[in-house]
Amino acid sequence: MSTTRLRSVLAHLAVATVTTGMLASLTMSTSSSEDDEASTSQRPHRDREVVRMLRAVDADNMRRIVDELAGFGTRHTLSAQHDPDRGVGAAADWLTEEFEQIAETAEARMTVEQQTFTQQPTDRVPEPTEITNVVATLHGTDPAAANRMYVIGGHYDSRCTDVMDAECDAPGANDDASGVAGAVEAARVLAPYEHDATIVFAGFSGEEQGLLGAYHFAENAVEQGYDIQGVLNNDMIGNTVGGNGRSDDGTIRVFSEGVPSDETEEEADTRRSVGGEMDGRSRQLSRFIAEVGQIYTPDLNVWEIARRDRFGRGGDQTPFLEEGFPAVRLTEPHENYEQQHQDVREEDGMIYGDLPRFVDEQYMARVNELNVATLVTLARAPSTPDNVGLVTNAEDAYSTTLQWDANPAADVAGYEVVWRDTMATRWTNSERVADATSHTVQDVSKDNYMFGVRAVDVDGNRSPVAYPEPQRARQ
Ligand SMILES: [Zn+2]
Repeated sequence: MSTTRLRSVLAHLAVATVTTGMLASLTMSTSSSEDDEASTSQRPHRDREVVRMLRAVDADNMRRIVDELAGFGTRHTLSAQHDPDRGVGAAADWLTEEFEQIAETAEARMTVEQQTFTQQPTDRVPEPTEITNVVATLHGTDPAAANRMYVIGGHYDSRCTDVMDAECDAPGANDDASGVAGAVEAARVLAPYEHDATIVFAGFSGEEQGLLGAYHFAENAVEQGYDIQGVLNNDMIGNTVGGNGRSDDGTIRVFSEGVPSDETEEEADTRRSVGGEMDGRSRQLSRFIAEVGQIYTPDLNVWEIARRDRFGRGGDQTPFLEEGFPAVRLTEPHENYEQQHQDVREEDGMIYGDLPRFVDEQYMARVNELNVATLVTLARAPSTPDNVGLVTNAEDAYSTTLQWDANPAADVAGYEVVWRDTMATRWTNSERVADATSHTVQDVSKDNYMFGVRAVDVDGNRSPVAYPEPQRARQ
C-alpha cells in the first residue's frame, strides 16, 4: 500500500469512527481546543436567546388555554357558529382574540386571520358548512428567507362518541386543545423576537370530520405558492397516563412518513433502485427535531416513529404530505382510549371523556419547549440545499461525490455532507465543506451508505438534510 493510500485510509477511519449528529460535533469541537478557531462554525449552536425562549414556555398558560377551550362545551365542527358561549364559533373567536393579543407584542410582524371556507357535503358533513381555521403568521425579517414557512398547528374542533353529534359535551381537552395550546404558547413565546423565516401558528378545524381545515389550508398554500418547509402537527400532547395504566411524561412520539405521499412513478422507480425508503423530506424533518431535542431538551426523549401516523389512523399532517410539504405528527407516548372521542360519563366508577383534569400541563410545556426550539432553529438555519445529486459518473468509483445548488442566504458558512449505515436511523458521520457546491467523501462507497447534504450558517445553525438523487456530474 502506498503512503498516500495509507494516509487516506487512516483519514477515512478517523472520520468514520466519529459520531457526528449535531450533539456529537458539540462534544467533538469542545474537546479539542487546538482547532477551536477553525471549528467554531461547526459547533452546534446552543443559543442563549433560544434557551431564554424555552424558559419562557409557561405550563400555567397552556393549562389556561386548555381550560378555556374546554369551557365552550363543544367545539364540534357542526355545532353553533354564533352562540357567544358554546360551540365552535365562540371557540374560533376566542382563539382569534388570543392571537391578536399576542400580535401586539410583535411590532407589526404578526398578522392574524380567520381562514373561512364553505365545506360542501361529505359523509361527515350533511349540509354546506362554514369551517374556520384561525391562523397567526409571524413574518420573517430576512428578505432571502421570509418566503420560507414553518407551520405549527393543532385542531380546535372536538367530538364525542358519535362523530355526527354536534350537541353533546365534547371538551376535547387533550384532543386537541393541548395541541392548540402548543401553537398559541409557541406564538406567545416567539412573537417578540425577529426570525429570518416565517412561522405560522394555526388552529385547524374540521379535523374530526375528515381533516377538512388542514386540507383547505394545504391546498390554499399550493395556490398561493407558499414554500412550506416543515409542519409540526401537534395532536394530543397532554396525556401522560395511558389507558393501560402505563405512565410516561418524558417522551414524545414524532411520526413521519419515509416514502413521500406525493412521489411520482419516476421517483418511485429510482427509490426502488437505489433505496431511500427511510429518507423522505418528512423523515429528515423528524431527524432534525430529534437532533434539536438533543441540544435543547435533552430530558425529553424524542421517539421517532417511522409511520405517517398511528396504525390505520390519520391527522392534520396528512393533507400537507399529500401536497408535497414535509410534515410530522407529535403525540404523547401512551394514549387513553377511554378519554378519546367519548361521551363524558361515569360507568362502574370509571370516568369517560376528554376532560381537562386528565391533561398534564407540565408535560405539555416540556413538549412545547421542543416545538419552540425546533421552530426557532428552523427559522434561523439556512434553507435545506436544493437540487442535491449523488454523482453516478465520478472518476473515482470507490469514493462518493455529491453536488448541490449554492444556498442564496447571505449568512451561509458552508455545508455538511452526512452519511450513515444504510440500516441506521440517524446520521452518524459528517464532513464539512467550506465554500463549494460539490464534495467527495474519500474511500466511502455510495453502495454502502446513505448520504445527505445540509447547509450551515455562520452561527452553526444547520438546515434539515436533503437526500440526493442520482445525477451526472455537472458541467
Ligand atoms: Zn385529534
